Amino acid sequence: MPTPPPKVSLRARRLALAILATITFSLCIAAIIVTYQRQQPPVQKINYSQLYGFAEAGGAVALQVEGETLTVTRADGSLVQATVTGEAPQNEVVQLFRKNKVPVEFKPIQPGLLASFISWGLPVLTLGLIAFAGWRIYASMSGRGSFELENHNGKQDVGFDDVAGVDEARAELTETIEFLRNPERFSRLGGRVPRGILLYGPPGTGKTLLARAAAKEAGVAFLAASGSSFQEKFAGLGAARVRHLFAKGRKLSPCIIFIDEIDALGRQRGRGGDSASADQDQTLNQLLVEMDGFDQSTAVVVIASTNRPDILDKALTRPGRFDREIAVNLADVSGREAILKVHARNLKLESGLDLQWIARGTPGFSGAELANLMNEAAIAATRDDAEAVERKHIEIARDRILMGAERQGFMMDEDERYATAVHEAGHVAVGLAVENGDPIHKVSILPRGRALGVTQSLPERDRFMKKREYLEDQIALLLGGRAAEQILLSTMTAGASNDIERAVEIARRMVSEFGMSRLGPIHLGQPDQQRSQSLLDKVEEATNELINSQLERACAIVTAEQESIGRLVELLMERDTLDADEILGCFKREARAA
Ligand code: ADP
Ligand code: ZN
Repeated sequence: MPTPPPKVSLRARRLALAILATITFSLCIAAIIVTYQRQQPPVQKINYSQLYGFAEAGGAVALQVEGETLTVTRADGSLVQATVTGEAPQNEVVQLFRKNKVPVEFKPIQPGLLASFISWGLPVLTLGLIAFAGWRIYASMSGRGSFELENHNGKQDVGFDDVAGVDEARAELTETIEFLRNPERFSRLGGRVPRGILLYGPPGTGKTLLARAAAKEAGVAFLAASGSSFQEKFAGLGAARVRHLFAKGRKLSPCIIFIDEIDALGRQRGRGGDSASADQDQTLNQLLVEMDGFDQSTAVVVIASTNRPDILDKALTRPGRFDREIAVNLADVSGREAILKVHARNLKLESGLDLQWIARGTPGFSGAELANLMNEAAIAATRDDAEAVERKHIEIARDRILMGAERQGFMMDEDERYATAVHEAGHVAVGLAVENGDPIHKVSILPRGRALGVTQSLPERDRFMKKREYLEDQIALLLGGRAAEQILLSTMTAGASNDIERAVEIARRMVSEFGMSRLGPIHLGQPDQQRSQSLLDKVEEATNELINSQLERACAIVTAEQESIGRLVELLMERDTLDADEILGCFKREARAA
């Protein structure tokens, strides 16, 4: 349903215009005054006795007294001027002129240079500042600067060569690109062109990249805005920005308008009565109006991206709006290899370094993370003064991405190191014991990022489906650290808080989203939806049950593995970081068949 355009920005526009008019007007006045003053005839300066002479001799036609300045107009029209300080001498001379029938005019003091600056320049300057501020507000209100224009003439540095591992999404965009290249042909054939495309998928998978590449491929302009830039402090401004963006798009047509994170403005409407969400509704309405306003011949395609398609307002995905949805998923192993190839283009790799090997070791990595990996590896190689990027640099980079950077110069005392080693050993023990977990890859008690220690497990393959058993094992693994503290140290540390948070998060989703608890298949949906308190209580209860039973299981494992854990702790205290083989050695286990 169309809503009337907001009035705020119109008012702002008028205000800004009024201010602009005022400043122009005062500038004109100032200019006139200055010119007028310049045009006054030249004056000759004289001293007091000369002035006295003039007064005595007569022959003057007028005297002007302006403060201490006395100006005499002589019969020939020329001017002489003297400065007379003190009242008595001034009076004396004025009396003398009077006696000789020279008319005397007393004028208010003419301002000097500084004075005239204060009386004219300052107000003008102030007005100028006000006008400038007004103009800035006006500019920000009307939505200027809220989006960027790229690629005005199709010259864009990102093309499909730079996007890899998303072939399906790319194929889905071909029709759109055809349309943008040749809009007339499409409308002649009467085909309905997808006007709005929704790219959805996890962050960093290349959605922005795809939209950019599509613009380059079609050779059209690319207008990019972020959904969050439409969230505004002033009511109605978001809608004004949307209007401005689309007006610009129409002007640039053919073009692609890209709206990143559309969920920021496209959430379901009518959720709350507060003014912020009312304003957001208005912004969203404006977007819908704009999209409905395209006719067949407007060569503008709107591409939006989100990682939360589920929370979008249903009206957004109706026919004629974002009616084509394209999934952009995390790449599989061959996709990752292709992405790595893109980002290794400008790097010198050691001859034996195989991109496929890297791809296999990075399941779950997004395109952005892979790009980051190659970048970090290059940095590590540079730091090493190496000729080329080697395997070990890739490993350093991967550890850094998975576990955070090592904290330099941070010393734990022996007790803390020991507690950390026990905690991590607990994770390892549980990770090795459970059947559906990912293999443990590394364990370390070197503080990294915010963590004091890290246990790193890596899936040996891409996981597309997460079974209940896998999730339960994950919870147990996360609680393994706390279990070891309880059993081996008879204490608890705050270091487990992040583990617990993540475990509870998994458990809650199992209960309230995946229907994997005794409550059966329930789904709570969006967090902001209203739910009965009794249902929420039940979910909380079931979540707690899950957590507690997994903690018990972790404790049982730790108790059974006490001996191996002891060996691991000892080795950790000695070497800080252990790899998979060393870990398995402590647990007297064969390496798992990879
Ligand atoms: P999204 O919009 O999905 O969050 P981006 O398109 O902004 O992700 O990707 C961020 C960066 O990650 C890109 O600039 C690029 O360097 C890298 N990247 C992400 N996906 C890919 C991909 N499929 N191929 C190549 N590089 C990618
Ligand atoms: Zn932990």
